[in-house]
Amino acid sequence: MEKEVKTTCPYCGVGCGVIATVDDNGAVAVRGDADHPANFGRLCSKGSALAETLDLDGRLLHPEIDGCQAGWDEALDLVAARFAETIAEHGPDSVAFYVSGQLLTEDYYVANKLMKGFVGSANIDTNSRLCMSSSVAGHRRAFGSDTVPGTYEDLELADLVVLTGSNLAWCHPVLYQRLAAAKAKRPGLKIVLIDPRRTMTADIADLHLAIRPDADVALFVGLFSHLVSSNAVDQNYVAAHTAGFGDTLLAAGGVSFDDVLERTGLPAMQLREFYRLFSTTEKVVTCYSQGVNQSSSGTDKVNAILNCHLATGRIGRPGMGPFSLTGQPNAMGGREVGGLANMLAAHMAIEDAGDRDRVQRFWRSPKIAEKPGLKAVDLFRAVADGRVKALWIMATNPVVSMPDADAVEAAIRACPFVVVSDILKETDTARHAHVLLPSLGWGEKSGTVTNSERRISRQRAFLAAPGEARADWWQLAEVGRRLGHTDAFAYEAPAAIFREHAALSAFENAGSRDFDIGAYADLALEDYDGLTPFQWPQRQGQKRAESRFFAAGNFYHADGRGRFVAVRPAETDRTNADYPFTLNTGRIRDQWHTMTRTGKSARLSAHIAEPFAELHPRDAMEIGVGNADLIEIESPEGKAFVRALITERQARGSIFAPMHWNDQFAAKARIDVLVPPITDRLSGQPASKNIAVAARKFKAT
Ligand code: SF4
Repeated sequence: MEKEVKTTCPYCGVGCGVIATVDDNGAVAVRGDADHPANFGRLCSKGSALAETLDLDGRLLHPEIDGCQAGWDEALDLVAARFAETIAEHGPDSVAFYVSGQLLTEDYYVANKLMKGFVGSANIDTNSRLCMSSSVAGHRRAFGSDTVPGTYEDLELADLVVLTGSNLAWCHPVLYQRLAAAKAKRPGLKIVLIDPRRTMTADIADLHLAIRPDADVALFVGLFSHLVSSNAVDQNYVAAHTAGFGDTLLAAGGVSFDDVLERTGLPAMQLREFYRLFSTTEKVVTCYSQGVNQSSSGTDKVNAILNCHLATGRIGRPGMGPFSLTGQPNAMGGREVGGLANMLAAHMAIEDAGDRDRVQRFWRSPKIAEKPGLKAVDLFRAVADGRVKALWIMATNPVVSMPDADAVEAAIRACPFVVVSDILKETDTARHAHVLLPSLGWGEKSGTVTNSERRISRQRAFLAAPGEARADWWQLAEVGRRLGHTDAFAYEAPAAIFREHAALSAFENAGSRDFDIGAYADLALEDYDGLTPFQWPQRQGQKRAESRFFAAGNFYHADGRGRFVAVRPAETDRTNADYPFTLNTGRIRDQWHTMTRTGKSARLSAHIAEPFAELHPRDAMEIGVGNADLIEIESPEGKAFVRALITERQARGSIFAPMHWNDQFAAKARIDVLVPPITDRLSGQPASKNIAVAARKFKAT
């Protein structure tokens, strides 16, 4: 008999609801879930092709030790023993977990609890560090909490949507579909795209500002000044609910309109039009994504945007607010459980002694990490220089996706003990593992994820576990038990973990924090199974909570006020005579991350079959490159070889290349080998979009 299961797409942060149908022969079909509030039945190309990526080709079906099949007990005993030995000999900070926004919240919760509460180190970081950590840092500076104030519906209710550093059409396609449909219905809805490239998203934009890379701080500081000079500031909101306006105004005074023109490279008419639109439109939403976050000034960019919304009081009201778009399906869930090295759990702060004490008592743990751990780039540096001697990587492929990827590969190869939990046997990272643990994939695992608008949805299993594959939370809990923490990791099902996570979110602080889902602390198993998508907060005793934040202030700083942050534009040009081009790395419509799953679908690969780099026609002419020629791109960190795609979408002097291809799909096409390990000083997020490179036609020697 045919079976239908409601679940959630495992790709981007839009978090679309999917209905999976399994027929009597085990064939799977997927369609959009019309009842899911993220997508109302829509799916993009990647979501529609999910059924094509479920075969067992290349799957890791059994644990392996040094390349030989092993039993679970043998493998887990070894992992626990090597971690215990390393901790005993070199201390808790000599071990680390590097996890992923692909993990379900329940997996993330157990990983974080084990590392921070029982190992006693905060060395657990995630590939979400590469995706949205600058937004987290910006939110915490401005709001006192990591809170996305609005909802997807705000994009449809707005009269002006500003998309900055976001190729919404390709990277959050269903949200793009919703925005395009809203504009088709209501042509008065204006869209401004801020992006150095003319992407597909420009097709629905009324104004495209082809800004210089990383000039966003200057653009929004200039906007702040314009809001003041054009009397667009909401004086009542600023006086009643914020602090720091004066200092921010003073800092903005040092950036003139001419400075903004020079730094952004924009025509004066376009800049004036953007400022006019923003200052005269009440219902404004500003969406930002990797073009803002993946920068050495990512946190300042976020705060420059937030300053403009705080100044106008356009926050947390229908059709108004800043909106951070998360890249990964569960980047937000990871933040909720403290899956970043500088966070604790339930949005509590690792630097706060009261929070540490609260979490430790709740977990009944023998110790608690007392300081932030190593963020992704520093974590792999510590692996390279031997400070980290045992590393557990889950559901991610850092040999392809980390900056300075060759150095990361060398570090992993030299690490004395590496555990990789994955669904595939031969990823670029898995091949360096001493112990390989087979994990459940999408359709096999069960738990929750949270999307960009704070909506928690279930991922449900509809396929049997292949071979001996087991859930990531189970693997972590088994190691926790083997390290002697039997009671703390006695979970039998993800529902128990979810309940504990919900109870922690309300423990001794009900009502005082943004992330609170205490209403689910006593959820029965059948109710967990039937959980329908909901947005947090959902506090105990008041299950239907507000869906937006900060319209009436109530920020999470001690005085309840939101903070303006006085940011200043920094120098952004990194090019020099040896490396005269600016490389911008990014994503394409039909692939996800390092292609380990989307690469299985011929239909998806047919969209763009080969790794490429976009160049402006005049740049191509100057370096003697024709369309589809093989080119060599070089930075001080490494080299990659891809096809040239010559297009006027690309600004002069800059190159765009997607980061998806790994060495299994195309030799020497890993773009992240070119990315230097430069990070934002506050968030630790790598700067993957403004890289000085050289480019030349490839000549075989
Ligand atoms: Fe999946 Fe994102 Fe596409 Fe929705 S928009 S179907 S979540 S990839």
